[in-house]
Amino acid sequence: MSDRKSYQQTYYQKNKVRLKERSNRRYAEKREEIRVTQNAYARSHRHEAQERQRTWREVHPEEYKEQARRGYATSAKRRAQIKLHTARRRAVSKCTCCTAEQFRAVYWAAELVGGEVDHVRALALGGIHCVKNLQILSVEAHKEKTKSDLAKCRRLHATAK
Ligand SMILES: [Zn+2]
Repeated sequence: MSDRKSYQQTYYQKNKVRLKERSNRRYAEKREEIRVTQNAYARSHRHEAQERQRTWREVHPEEYKEQARRGYATSAKRRAQIKLHTARRRAVSKCTCCTAEQFRAVYWAAELVGGEVDHVRALALGGIHCVKNLQILSVEAHKEKTKSDLAKCRRLHATAK
């Protein structure tokens, strides 16, 4: 090893804490900028990165298992986020199979029996405004159903956070 290299290493070892703090601070200040550069680099070097990952997985099977386990927890969060996103998109959309007449018939029937119209799969949970997704519930049952839908919605939001 050259003198210069070993000098650098000794210097680093001696000032490790200070140097790390400085680099963390710089990273925090320029995080957005760095992220853009890193993403661009990652995109243009994707195949090399995949190759490196494959090699790493073969050399470190245990660490890989651990990472995969943690990755699963992250993707549960991601799954919830996607679910919510889909739900929001669908909440404003109506089916194309039912006519206004058919909808009116359901609401009229509900009125006739003194019940309320409910979306089986709540709109906020990705349900569609479609006759097939409608049911007539008693006022009391509708209250309970709404409560459970809201609870589901809250759970989903908490998971996606
Ligand atoms: Zn429909």
